[in-house]
Amino acid sequence: SAGVVDTVARALEHADSVRRLEVRANADTPEDAARARRFGAQGIGLCRTEHMFLGERRKLVEEMILAGDDTERERALAALLPLQRADFTGILEAMDGLPVTIRLIDPPLHEFLPDRTELAVRVATAEQPDAHDVELLDAVNRMHEENPMLGLRGVRLGLVIPGLVAMQVRAVAEAVVARTRAGGSPEAEIMVPLVGAVEELRIERAEVERVLAEVSEESGVPVRCPVGTMIELPRAALTAGRIAEEAEFFSFGTNDLTQTTWGFSRDDVEAAFFSAYLDKGVFPASPFETLDRDGVGRLVRIAVDEGRATRPGLKIGVCGEHGGDPASVHFFHTARLDYVSCSPFRVPVARLEAGRAALAGTEGSDSR
Ligand code: PEP
Ligand code: MG
Repeated sequence: SAGVVDTVARALEHADSVRRLEVRANADTPEDAARARRFGAQGIGLCRTEHMFLGERRKLVEEMILAGDDTERERALAALLPLQRADFTGILEAMDGLPVTIRLIDPPLHEFLPDRTELAVRVATAEQPDAHDVELLDAVNRMHEENPMLGLRGVRLGLVIPGLVAMQVRAVAEAVVARTRAGGSPEAEIMVPLVGAVEELRIERAEVERVLAEVSEESGVPVRCPVGTMIELPRAALTAGRIAEEAEFFSFGTNDLTQTTWGFSRDDVEAAFFSAYLDKGVFPASPFETLDRDGVGRLVRIAVDEGRATRPGLKIGVCGEHGGDPASVHFFHTARLDYVSCSPFRVPVARLEAGRAALAGTEGSDSR
């Protein structure tokens, strides 16, 4: 009823006036970005780019990965560039004037590759195997990983596929130029996933800065995007002081951080077998739902302290699913994060909880 809507609106207004945590949303389409904005998101904390390589674009991705030489790969990347530029232009337009954190590609490699078994069967059963299939199978076999979630994902993939990061960064930079020329205020930020060592970020960031400078020079429009990293591996949290030398912001990826801290597969928690384990009462709620304060939370605190010791005032957020869980939002407030980023539909809940946490005045303490 109108009465309820009014009460909620007033509660949100009050929460917004007292909260210190910013609330952003995770979104990777202009539609989701617009929805997030309507729910009161103050930016996009995580724009995943993996889905942008599926569907009709899969063929180009295949070509890029399986390219026999630089020319072939560059051709595939050149075909992907305008598509990516349009992706980013749409999202920056929907979020005009607000920060949009675009994450460089982070798929497990097998999601990129054609299905290995299917391909093997096709080659084995064909009377006259297709030469392309044979070549493809050979490449897929060479890139096969038994544990893709612990394999060449995130920054690792960026480091081994020449030109991939440069293409994505160019697409972001050109989108910023296009929006600037259209009179907009694009605020793109570039985020590097799955970093475990500062050296990875140093290499990747140099490439990002090189491309940003190149596009600025070509276009005459200065493109300045903060470059930051996800903290989603225990090693990243433990070496955050060094990682902060190369990062202009941190964002905790608590989905992966929970997975790698506990050694649980995040993809299998829904399975019946895993539920049987959850029923044993080891924890009150699944650690994928509510942040585990003793383990993952401790890593979060270490990374916040070490990161800000290197870089005072370092901007720090969280973009794992926990960013929309009230108890976890409360923890992120006490851990002195700057923002949480969650699904668009969770934005009002996060705003309310951020207000409640501010009123509880538990900042810095370990109180629950
Ligand atoms: C995370 O790991 O928490 C995260 C936000 O990244 P993704 O879920 O895409 O791995
Ligand atoms: Mg992750």
